Amino acid sequence: MVTGNSKELFESAKQFIPGGVNSPVRAFKAVGGDPLFINAAEGAYLYDVDDNRYIELINSWGPMILGHANELIEKAVIEAVKNSLSFGAPTAKEGEIAELIVNMVPSVEKVRMVNSGTEATMSAIRVARGYTGKDKIIKIEGCYHGHGDSFLIAAGSGAVTMGTPDSPGVTKGTAKDTLLAPFNRLESIKELIESNPSEIAAIILEPVPGNMGCVLPEPGYLSGLRQICDEENIVLIFDEVMTGFRLAKGGAQELFNVIPDITTLGKIIGGGMPVGAYGGKSEIMDYVSPQGPVYQAGTLSGNPVAMAAGYTMLEYLNENPGIYTQLEEITSFIVQGIQQNLKKLNLSYTINHLGSMFSLFFTEKEVIDFDTAKTSDTKKFGEYFRRMLNQGVYLAPSQFETLFISTAITKELAEAIIQANYEVLNSMH
Ligand SMILES: *Cc1c(COP(=O)(O)O)cnc(C)c1O
Repeated sequence: MVTGNSKELFESAKQFIPGGVNSPVRAFKAVGGDPLFINAAEGAYLYDVDDNRYIELINSWGPMILGHANELIEKAVIEAVKNSLSFGAPTAKEGEIAELIVNMVPSVEKVRMVNSGTEATMSAIRVARGYTGKDKIIKIEGCYHGHGDSFLIAAGSGAVTMGTPDSPGVTKGTAKDTLLAPFNRLESIKELIESNPSEIAAIILEPVPGNMGCVLPEPGYLSGLRQICDEENIVLIFDEVMTGFRLAKGGAQELFNVIPDITTLGKIIGGGMPVGAYGGKSEIMDYVSPQGPVYQAGTLSGNPVAMAAGYTMLEYLNENPGIYTQLEEITSFIVQGIQQNLKKLNLSYTINHLGSMFSLFFTEKEVIDFDTAKTSDTKKFGEYFRRMLNQGVYLAPSQFETLFISTAITKELAEAIIQANYEVLNSMH
């Protein structure tokens, strides 16, 4: 499928980088073909090294909610760069972004900045264990929380896609402290708690999973978890690395009005720079060093250039909440268009959608958890992906991912996406 320079660059990269990429899902293994090498991006478009142009529906896996090369963010970064790239000492901007996050995200009273979503979830679990004095955690099947050892068990997205749901290198000792429950099933959470009395430190989940494709919580599920955690002295962690600042300025917790004890953040929070954060109740966050005994640190954490990008992004979202209505409208328009295409073609595939996240699953089953997501025909998805790419639409290269709409997607581009979807589905059946 990919010709020219992308192919050459990929062949060359494979000699020096494992699999030729710095993050597995980029390799297109799940969909077949070779990855595109990208030169530049602007607004809603991505340009590859062979001068092809694509409409962007991944947006760097979420961060670029305002589209690419946003002027405000670029300007803030350029200004910050002039003052040196790093000091390893506190700056005013770190206090400002912390205050802004506390104002935007309902559960967060104090927050610590880190450099990735992975670091945020690993640290959140450590604090939950330190705070409760308990070891075990409950993880939800199909949720992805980065590549920390404790989470590489039924990990969704990259891990499923690569066919390594349990990674070698994770010790049995670590694996035994991670208990698994299916999404949307309070009953199985209760069973795990009963069979591990007073042993569970935390329940961690994506409140609206995007890493098994987009899956919605059933009414009462999130509030039910909140209630169980209160009764059992368990720390409830919402991993909002994907949904934070995406579904609402306060994330899924604002939308569903369920307040976790700890929230992990990433992706949009850095405006495209590598940033993560974890925050929550002061009582819990005060366990983090140097205030408390739970150690967590980072040489480049709170980096001035990254903070300039992140602050500008968050401030813009905070001051322009109309963006979320706009994103919901354009995404609904696309989803309805695809639904009409399916109807015209007599297909009954499933679409899940919330705000500016949506997934088209190649299954006729309702998708409510990891097991139902896995009923999808991934071979068919691969073909759909490759044909959409030929039509100039860049989708996430896996069935088990959500798509992200940015504010750069206009009505005209939305119509082009719907048209491409029709032509591709029609040619496949
Ligand atoms: C992307 C993601 C992570 C991992 O973040 P990285 O920055 O890739 O380490 C963790 N949790 C969720 C929900 C994610 O979507």
